[in-house]
Amino acid sequence: MKAQPRLRNQVALVTGGSSGIGVGVCLALAADGAKVVVNYHSDEEGADKTVAAIEKIGGEAYAVRADVSKEPEVLAMFEDIKKRYGTLHILVSNSGIQKDASFLDMTLDEWNAVLNVNLTGQFLCAREAAREFVKRGVQPEISKAAGKIICMSSVHEVIPWAGHVNYATSKGGIMLMMKSMAQELAPHKVRVNSIGPGAIQTPINEEAWGTKKALNKLLELIPYGRIGQPDDIGEVAAWLASDESDYVTGTTLFADGGMTLYPGFADNG
Ligand code: NAD
Repeated sequence: MKAQPRLRNQVALVTGGSSGIGVGVCLALAADGAKVVVNYHSDEEGADKTVAAIEKIGGEAYAVRADVSKEPEVLAMFEDIKKRYGTLHILVSNSGIQKDASFLDMTLDEWNAVLNVNLTGQFLCAREAAREFVKRGVQPEISKAAGKIICMSSVHEVIPWAGHVNYATSKGGIMLMMKSMAQELAPHKVRVNSIGPGAIQTPINEEAWGTKKALNKLLELIPYGRIGQPDDIGEVAAWLASDESDYVTGTTLFADGGMTLYPGFADNG
């Protein structure tokens, strides 16, 4: 736990908290004093490990199962959180999947699966969180904002990605969903932002870092010269959730080691 935790007395829901970036976000929010609800889809053991890691640093957490793309399951998860903690202050919509295929071969199932989890899942969770934030309003002793929504986007909200049209579409969609929500919810003192991770070392992209050859090729796209870690994203999420970023809404904070800086132009293009 940090010496001066910024998220004390706040409840945070992190979707997909059973692996990868979600674990880094859960731990960073807990280290900053938030009580963390660790959502998982099928990996109960992973979620239990995240809860145990949070308890080990003196934090509080519990795990709750829900498929974020299914409305009844999302509603039940929010009911569960209300029963357990009374309210919610922070949502990190992190769940996401890839189902890669060349555009010519992409099936409707592959398209729908990615859009359902990555975009509809974020819509459903953000809507439920926003309803709770607006109903409850600001609690000045807890935070300057009534609530904070953080969408896990990607550098692929701006970088086109051949072979991953469904994924890039979902992330581009998150960008305007986030900005439109931010515009609509600002008068209610709800802040909405995205994080745009670059390449972070997690199970979703193991083929990009699993061998030395693949990693070297990936590093050509990262001016800062290293692959990112879940902690890198956790720290950004904790800041965006805290009052230190109280004037920040409707923006994507890229945490990508410079991947969006067009590294191909570094030597004059
Ligand atoms: P990951 O595969 O480790 O995590 C994805 C998480 O989503 C898992 O916890 C999984 O259980 C959860 N999930 C999948 N389907 C779900 C469903 N239907 N309902 C609820 N949860 C579900 O990969 P990750 O890299 O940690 O990805 C986390 C987020 O970060 C994703 O949105 C991903 O698009 C984004 N991202 C990752 C990278 C990267 O380089 N790793 C880069 C940019 C963006």
